Amino acid sequence: MNLTVCYCTEPPSGARSIIAQVNDTVVTLEWSEPLDRGGRSDLTYSIKCERCGGSSCVPCADGVTYRPGQADIIGRRVVIRGLLPHTTYTFTILAEKGVDAVGHVSPASSTVNITTSRDVAVPVSGIKRTKASETTVSLSWASPSQTHHSVLEYQLRYSLKVTKKHKVKDVYVSSRSNSVVLNGLARASQYQVQVRARTAAGYGHFSPFTTISTLPDVEVPPSHLLLTGVLVAVGLLVLVAVVIVAVFCFRGIKVYIDPFTYEDPNEAVREFAKEIDVSFVKIEEVIGAGEFGEVCRGRLKVPGKKENYVAIKTLKGGYTDKQRRDFLSEASIMGQFQHPNIIHLEGVITASCPVMILTEYMENGALDSFLRLNDGQFTNIQLVGMLRGIASGMKYLSEMSFVHRDLAARNILVNSNLVCKVSDFGLSRFLTENSSDPTYTSSLGGKIPIRWTAPEAIAFRKFTSASDVWSYGIVMWEVMSFGERPYWDMSNQDVINAIEQDYRLPPPPECPASLHQLMLDCWQKERSSRPRFCAIVSALDRLIRNPASLKITGRLTDGPSHPLLDQRPLPTLSQCRSVSDWLRAIKMERYEERFLLAGFTSIELISHICTE
Ligand code: AMP
Repeated sequence: MNLTVCYCTEPPSGARSIIAQVNDTVVTLEWSEPLDRGGRSDLTYSIKCERCGGSSCVPCADGVTYRPGQADIIGRRVVIRGLLPHTTYTFTILAEKGVDAVGHVSPASSTVNITTSRDVAVPVSGIKRTKASETTVSLSWASPSQTHHSVLEYQLRYSLKVTKKHKVKDVYVSSRSNSVVLNGLARASQYQVQVRARTAAGYGHFSPFTTISTLPDVEVPPSHLLLTGVLVAVGLLVLVAVVIVAVFCFRGIKVYIDPFTYEDPNEAVREFAKEIDVSFVKIEEVIGAGEFGEVCRGRLKVPGKKENYVAIKTLKGGYTDKQRRDFLSEASIMGQFQHPNIIHLEGVITASCPVMILTEYMENGALDSFLRLNDGQFTNIQLVGMLRGIASGMKYLSEMSFVHRDLAARNILVNSNLVCKVSDFGLSRFLTENSSDPTYTSSLGGKIPIRWTAPEAIAFRKFTSASDVWSYGIVMWEVMSFGERPYWDMSNQDVINAIEQDYRLPPPPECPASLHQLMLDCWQKERSSRPRFCAIVSALDRLIRNPASLKITGRLTDGPSHPLLDQRPLPTLSQCRSVSDWLRAIKMERYEERFLLAGFTSIELISHICTE
């Protein structure tokens, strides 16, 4: 007898918007539900882990652990430990439902690639001599705390302390416990000792040098101590000088070059953008409107390479030479950047018409509309992950001495993994007088997006990385409010006045206080007091590592507020004890005397006029 099993539901589609947080060798994956649950509520997920190098991948080692588990995960978050440092992994999330376990339907999958950190710090400190003889010493040290892995063994490195000229070879000793006995040492001698720990993730750093001596103890005369101190101080000074020189040299290596400094800007295009053969490109559909023409989605198939989706910006016909130059300048700028949070330029097509700029395709489009479309759908950790990406891209740009001038959620693009990338490097919208976009307000010498721009840039066109930091604060506010318009429907002039009077945007609903504080730091009037992008990245990393810190909402400090800028509900009359209480609550305390003179001396009398 043949038995036919009928599945009344469809397989679910794949998990969406995977966000990966990497902390040393621990990876946290979070994702959103599939768009289509396949008509079932018993959806579970399982994780496939592969270690990838070159062009091949192998399954992850047994030592990798998953919390809450590797299979049958009911939530949408998993913490994966025991990974190797500085290694690339591919994680595949399989969305499954009960029926798949017995059916032959392969589950929908979504993948994400990550690389673990290079350095895995498992610091060892506090080396102590516990016992000593003339030729032996017993040493012990503190076991490292807060490591994700248990220590497999310690490695100790020691050498006789001698003058700089005489280099003595290091001796290595391994120990499974946090103590060791060193034998066969020289009598009355000093040794320099360091220890490091090995975990499943590899070796940590060696501890700082500790000096120990065999018996009889070596007395160091005070004059030697002084000399040592002086030598250490000089050494430190030299080290600081070397670091400063290295930093300056490094900064000098990669600095952005303004394509308009080229006598022939076409030269800059040739230098920074690859020319693509038009026959490699297939245009599929229009996805947006750019400054110079349509933006389309298409496919790029370069022979010998994998086919990729691309975004194609076109320059519409009838353009002037200047328009062509301005259009292509965006490619000459973008082509100089290489960073995971900066939109990647694939190349340009200038040899045929229409002229095109090809970039990587970002499935979720512009961040502002994406957030509005998904209002309330992301966790704070996911939002902070997006902000971290933007800050990291901006850190890279500021290190290259590139000032964006138009950082705003509308100019951030989002891919299917929720990775945010800074885009829009065209300068034309600051210049085109006849552009009808109301976001950009004409001012002396160009157009400015007032709500996103620092006061010194509005007042005297002082655009710097510090003014980009101000704009970044506004982007933080846009992200945490799921795409709300900064300063709502206030006029540009009201915004300028409010900022001048030290009023700042209040925290968006349910925004962690620490994030609002970071926004306020970005909106410091004094531009040198604003944090730099590297500090913003570090601050966000700290929050990601400590998600509990995102639970506190509201304001950390009682900064100046403004009835126009504060969208929190005002207290009701019954919540106020006196007329002056009520006037203070609605920030009208300056009218107290007039109210009292007019005879409104109690809350009851006020409530009468309100009801009347
Ligand atoms: P732009 O001229 O860069 O402001 O682009 C106009 C619109 O086209 C954007 O707001 C996006 O909706 C869309 N767009 C531009 N570049 C891309 C891209 N790389 N991937 C997906 N959509 C894009």
